[in-house]
Amino acid sequence: MSAIILDGKTLSKEIEAQLAERVKKLKEKLPGRTPTLATILVGDDPASMTYVKMKGNACQRVGLQSQKVELSGTATTEQLLKKIEELNDLPDVAGILLQHPVPKQINERLCFDAISLQKDVDGVTTQGFGRLAMGEKAYGSATPQGILTLLKHYQIPLAGMRAVVVGRSPILGKPMAMMLMNANATVTVCHSKTQNLPDIVRQGDLVVGAVGKPKFIQASWIKDGAVVVDAGYHPPGVGDIDLEGVTERCSAYTPVPGGVGPMTIVTLISQTVEAAEQWK
Ligand code: NAP
Repeated sequence: MSAIILDGKTLSKEIEAQLAERVKKLKEKLPGRTPTLATILVGDDPASMTYVKMKGNACQRVGLQSQKVELSGTATTEQLLKKIEELNDLPDVAGILLQHPVPKQINERLCFDAISLQKDVDGVTTQGFGRLAMGEKAYGSATPQGILTLLKHYQIPLAGMRAVVVGRSPILGKPMAMMLMNANATVTVCHSKTQNLPDIVRQGDLVVGAVGKPKFIQASWIKDGAVVVDAGYHPPGVGDIDLEGVTERCSAYTPVPGGVGPMTIVTLISQTVEAAEQWK
């Protein structure tokens, strides 16, 4: 069987080209306005610094402004909340990204939820998640929303599929499960207390790895013909799934790198453009 490569790198470039057109039109329609994505980085975690930089570069490629806010690693919840409130009030800031994770002394949930719903382009607020769960309009959490866009682009027939999501984090596993359920898949969510994980993964027509441990999901756990989505990324370039040994047997898979990562970024940018398009 020759598996389909779910090529997030190529798709994200195609989407970026369309976004650049939309930003151009928006600027023509609203001269004097500067559609901006504000990125907040707290501390100096090297991976987070790289992600924020990549998101800033993506803004530049489509014609959005990026406003970088950097707080020290010792910043308090109150300081971060104040910054978010300031950005909520800035009219040209269409979207706000608070790079996850923040240092331990900060109440991350409180800060995520301080982002106004209209500017929650990374899809991290409780309210946004709740609306999404109820099938109401909201910006989806960027990584699972990007995965969904990729699966739909490749016409993966999600309705009726048995999907197994390994991981239940607020930014990834949980919204992924919800989105797949809304797309009529039958979803099982696994986590660190799950028993007989390999047996459950073996039932998946679609397996999403969102564990945060390199090559944690073994090739032997995945059934022949499954669709394999690896959300993990660990330098120098492995995911949460042991993809070798799966690529020959599965029906489709996301490469690492070049699968989920670029889709996450383009989803953030796309939702920022959409937010700016709501301007009157
Ligand atoms: P996270 O917050 O650490 O969550 C990890 C999840 O995995 C938790 O729900 C945890 O269960 C579960 N887990 C841990 N050990 C397990 C085990 N032995 N068996 C089953 N489940 C287990 O991580 P995250 O932020 O969701 O990220 C997950 C992965 O996605 C990471 O590799 C990260 O790098 C990647 N990621 C990629 C992007 C991108 O843009 N490509 C964006 C975000 C994240 P409990 O809930 O029980 O603790």
